[in-house]
Amino acid sequence: MWYNIGVVSQEKVETMPTKVKKPFLSVKDTTMPYVEFVKSFSTEFKARRYLEKVRWSDNKPICPHCGHTHVWTTKRNGVKGYYECPNCGKVFTIRTGTIFERSHVPLTKWLYACYKVITSRKGISSIQLALDIGVTQKTSWFMLQRIRMACTQTMDVGKMLKNIVEADAVYFGGKEKNKHESKKLKKGRGTVGKVAILGAKERGGRVGAKVILDTSHETVHDTLKGMIDGTATLMTDEHASYVGVPFANHNIVRHAVKEFVNGMASTNEIESVWSILKRGWVGIYHHFSQKHIQLYVNEFCFRLNEGKCDVKLDERIKSMCVFSLKKKPLSYKALLAREGDNGLMRAA
Ligand SMILES: [Zn+2]
Repeated sequence: MWYNIGVVSQEKVETMPTKVKKPFLSVKDTTMPYVEFVKSFSTEFKARRYLEKVRWSDNKPICPHCGHTHVWTTKRNGVKGYYECPNCGKVFTIRTGTIFERSHVPLTKWLYACYKVITSRKGISSIQLALDIGVTQKTSWFMLQRIRMACTQTMDVGKMLKNIVEADAVYFGGKEKNKHESKKLKKGRGTVGKVAILGAKERGGRVGAKVILDTSHETVHDTLKGMIDGTATLMTDEHASYVGVPFANHNIVRHAVKEFVNGMASTNEIESVWSILKRGWVGIYHHFSQKHIQLYVNEFCFRLNEGKCDVKLDERIKSMCVFSLKKKPLSYKALLAREGDNGLMRAA
């Protein structure tokens, strides 16, 4: 007997959509082993030249103050790497306008910190970084916070999530019963003393997450509108705060009755984001202070968006250096002082 296995008629072939193949990038293309990384940036000169290459295309310095492209090279106390702008008369270096500005930590150490934040899936603690690069924990924490600020700014580029978007909220914080008597809030159990984070993930694409002060109808709707395009199809669980969300379509899965997939509707992708965040919290950081938790969340979002392993390492480092240009670098004093009335860090 003859079986018609895998034979497709010519007509069918012509009507079949052609699959667009993504160019395959091997691990060799997209990342750099640690040993090679250290070898490549063994001196301050090499680190500076590398940053100049990734920040300024064609290695042509651009004045960060006025955008002038024809600048002169100069020296300060015999040290190279300074540029003078004939247009505005200001002197600048590769550090000016980036997260490295006004820091005495060598660029080799800064690049190592960026490398670790980018390549460690669950992040790196300030204590570990301090031991690795030989600085105090205070300095390494400050460096990591500045890197997280750069991760934050890459989120603010107006890239709204589109098509099918999954949204979900999660609570972070220790249980009341495990806290020391002096730290117990004594306001009940459940979500007391915890921080709520509302996240959204485009299916197969980007992710965004914001710390929210409550899970009210208004707060949830406003936060989702800030992250998701109005034409999107939203997938959520059955929580009452999602009722009437202003998007083209809204599908629900009922977690209360153990329904996790309902046709196209599921929130599995956003839940996998929470899973990574929780692993980082439990295994690396142990504690996110309420004041700084948004910065940690942004670090994780950055790694899942611009920092993911199918993006070239150069591009990932560039995302950190270039996007921090628009705002003044954060000082240590300012970092400690930037607390709002609600206990959260004020927006950058
Ligand atoms: Zn200038």
